[in-house]
Amino acid sequence: MPTTCALCRRQIPDERIGDPQAIQEHHLRPERRAESPTVVLCRPCHDQIHAVFTNEELRESHDTVEALRDADRLEGYIDWIRGTDKLDIDVTTSNRVRERR
Ligand SMILES: [Zn+2]
Ligand SMILES: [Zn+2]
Repeated sequence: MPTTCALCRRQIPDERIGDPQAIQEHHLRPERRAESPTVVLCRPCHDQIHAVFTNEELRESHDTVEALRDADRLEGYIDWIRGTDKLDIDVTTSNRVRERR
């Protein structure tokens, strides 16, 4: 079964699986990593989520993939990313708090 990004649904090429520059795990409740469900995202989607939402916003109102996919702030992004097959994209980094790794 091919690996796809949970947000944009693009397929991750087999040779990129395991490459953290291409595919990353997102904790749906960032401050509760131990118990948080996780989803697999391509790196641009993961960067984008953390650029437009604080951890608090993610935890409070965007702790499911469905909520993220419906988010107004991601609408334009998702339309755009679905039209490209790039995985190495520098999403503009905002000065919002980013998840510590
Ligand atoms: Zn994606
Ligand atoms: Zn994350």
